[in-house]
Amino acid sequence: MVGRVDGKVALVTGAASGIGRACAERLAAEGAKVVLTDLTDEAGAAAAADIVQRGGQASYLHQDVTDEGEWVQVIASVRETHGRLDILVNNAGIGLGGSVLDMSLADFRKQMAVNVEGVFLGVKHALPLMRQSGDGGSIINMSSVAGLKGAASLAGYCASKGAVRLFTKSVALECAAAGDKVRVNSVHPGIIETPIWDTIIGTGGPGSNAGPQRAASLDAMASVATPLGFKGDPADIADGVLWLASSESRYVTGAELVIDGGLSVR
Ligand code: NAD
Repeated sequence: MVGRVDGKVALVTGAASGIGRACAERLAAEGAKVVLTDLTDEAGAAAAADIVQRGGQASYLHQDVTDEGEWVQVIASVRETHGRLDILVNNAGIGLGGSVLDMSLADFRKQMAVNVEGVFLGVKHALPLMRQSGDGGSIINMSSVAGLKGAASLAGYCASKGAVRLFTKSVALECAAAGDKVRVNSVHPGIIETPIWDTIIGTGGPGSNAGPQRAASLDAMASVATPLGFKGDPADIADGVLWLASSESRYVTGAELVIDGGLSVR
């Protein structure tokens, strides 16, 4: 059976955990050759090995998305190994919660560096290879419901995700004007259970039992805040990313795919 992204080459950042890992798994299961990158090498390499063990095609590279030199190296490696790039999932991100009064300038800048500069660098360095491939391509930038609406105690995170939203639309217009057939869209997850919440709601403190605490906190939060009444799973986001990566969405660019159980509707 032919997969939905058969033969395409995909690069997924922040793929060692959570949503990025689920995206890499889903794309590989549908026939893509997936390059996973992350800061955390052990988990990243294990994620790639797991995909290979299940019959998929995957490899892992170390990458800090805030480092332009590392982007140059990663894209050179993709070019050397695969000769093309069809799908870029700019997923790596961090979430720092707390009052704007308590947030240090260093932390604000760090969050902008990963969440915004990382996406900018990804587009800047991946687009030339996508264009050379000649078949167009799909760039998927991970924003958030926090890029659509404000949230108390999340001002810095919202600023970063709002920037991703309009950066995406602007690059989509630039690509369309160039006629390069590269589509550029943003994805806006709601409450999805992953470790990112430990630094947003404080479930990851020293001596904490992060996993169960996080699960219980997110269950409680989602039951109140989300019209559907429950939290999402990374696979819910990966399904949307797969659709944007495939030619099924060939007429979609500059769009916001909101996957949030209705959270942002009210
Ligand atoms: P996660 O913490 O499970 O995964 C994030 C991954 O990014 C980690 O593997 C981490 O090592 C990596 N990373 C962090 N900084 C990096 C850097 N400088 N360079 C390379 N990799 C780096 O969190 P997640 O929930 O899977 O987050 C994935 C994306 O989804 C993020 O952009 C996040 O903002 C977004 N998002 C998540 C939710 C949610 O509810 N989980 C909601 C909306 C948006």
